[in-house]
Amino acid sequence: MSSAARDWHALAAGCRPDGRMFIGGRRGDSAAGETFDCVSPIDGRTIAQVARGQSADIDAAVASARRAFDDGRWAHKPPAVRKKILVRFAEKILAARDELALLETLDMGKPIGDSLSVDVPSSARCIAWYGEAIDKVYDEIAPTARSALALITREPMGVVGAIVPWNYPLLMSAWKLGPALAAGNSVVLKPSEKASLTALRLAELAIEAGLPEGVFNVVPGYGFEAGEALALHMDVDAIGFTGSTRVGRKMLEYAGRSNLKRVYNELGGKSAFVVFDDCNDIARAARTAAGSVFYNQGESCNAPTRVMVHESVADEFIEVLKAQAPKYQPADPLHPDTAMGALVDDNQLRTVLGYIDTGRNEGAKLLFGGQQARAESGGFYVEPTVFEGVNNLMRIAREEIFGPVISVLRFSTEDEAIAIANDSPYGLQASVWSHQFDRVHRVSRALRAGTVQVNQYDEDDITVPFGGYKQSGNGRDKSLHAFDKYTELKTTWMRID
Ligand code: NAD
Repeated sequence: MSSAARDWHALAAGCRPDGRMFIGGRRGDSAAGETFDCVSPIDGRTIAQVARGQSADIDAAVASARRAFDDGRWAHKPPAVRKKILVRFAEKILAARDELALLETLDMGKPIGDSLSVDVPSSARCIAWYGEAIDKVYDEIAPTARSALALITREPMGVVGAIVPWNYPLLMSAWKLGPALAAGNSVVLKPSEKASLTALRLAELAIEAGLPEGVFNVVPGYGFEAGEALALHMDVDAIGFTGSTRVGRKMLEYAGRSNLKRVYNELGGKSAFVVFDDCNDIARAARTAAGSVFYNQGESCNAPTRVMVHESVADEFIEVLKAQAPKYQPADPLHPDTAMGALVDDNQLRTVLGYIDTGRNEGAKLLFGGQQARAESGGFYVEPTVFEGVNNLMRIAREEIFGPVISVLRFSTEDEAIAIANDSPYGLQASVWSHQFDRVHRVSRALRAGTVQVNQYDEDDITVPFGGYKQSGNGRDKSLHAFDKYTELKTTWMRID
């Protein structure tokens, strides 16, 4: 049966997710035996009990990862063998596509169609791509004098702690696991307390694929308990963190207070989407802005929530944007045609509605949406929302809302557009819409963002780096550059007589 034709409600009713942690190749309860409720944002039902990992569990997981690293059961395997196992791991992910997609949608509310067509296959591709890459990466010999030989080699760091958010739980886990495991490290993954289920299932699939026990451990739990214990641990060599800028700051503090472990932060954004009057398809730009912000309920780090439009084309742009918004009215996340699902929890719903009130109070004009939706479902939904008349000093233009809210700002000159776009603590992504060759180059260069998209917004591939300037983080996920985060560079000098 095709995935689209499946009765997802019946499958959801029969789904009994396993929330136990995964250490040393086995499922188990937390040392204290404590759990917390996993509540589905679709209807507010509790769908699982998840192990509440604390420092004793982190200690056990790190010890397991350290043993696995030190005895070389994974790190010393030839790259071609690691490749084979990671490619098999990716195949297992694809074979479990429906199960993983259902868990992801139940856990954090995104539409099942997106979980099936984007999250699961992209995660599998990421793992396979790093597996495929690892036996094709060469080390270096430096051009030194003839009396010596200098080898420059990359070695795995050791134990990597990965701490990930809830908005793309499976994919963010894969972005850390792919390069970290391929390079030969052991990993302790701490998923978000708001969405842990797919990460836990991933660990079982890795073992089935042949990854040795202890190489990949998953400890679910709260950030202030399991997350903090992992980031402060003296035997963790590096932290790959994806999450908010607020917690990213703490990661740097934890490293300073412990063993100066390497910290790679992938943080929040408030991305600018700059539409010039010489863009030859204003309607396409407006459709793209709507699709990019409302995708994943607006819970995307790189969502272009600051839409800046030249004053001479702003009315035309806004008309199309207003006409697009109703297409993203939230609907049942388990229906294959749904475009926008539920926000992750009640707290996020309150935060988003609070920002919408703030926007109104700051004097922005609400053009569409602004209300809670589908309250009768027991879940957490908000309408696609469009503000105009926004200026860059307003909180809705400066702070990451992480919900389906677009702010439209007007500008009159290219210099003004660049100044507004760069006037943000964040610098994750930006886009330029223009069909004037010189302008596209000038503005792309001037924008302080890790990714700039021209006349599009969502082009994406595992082959390119992703990450931010400024307070959007450091380091890069994806591409061969991600190996830099999970390897140490070693120089070995040899005397030649
Ligand atoms: P968050 O910072 O609240 O939590 C992220 C992770 O950190 C979770 O696992 C959480 O349990 C843990 N954590 C929280 N407090 C902690 C603490 N004191 N010590 C240790 N760990 C702690 O972020 P979130 O709400 O889960 O995710 C949304 C954020 O993630 C947004 O800001 C979004 O922009 C960002 N994000 C960035 C990227 C990127 O690639 N740049 C991708 C996805 C999401």
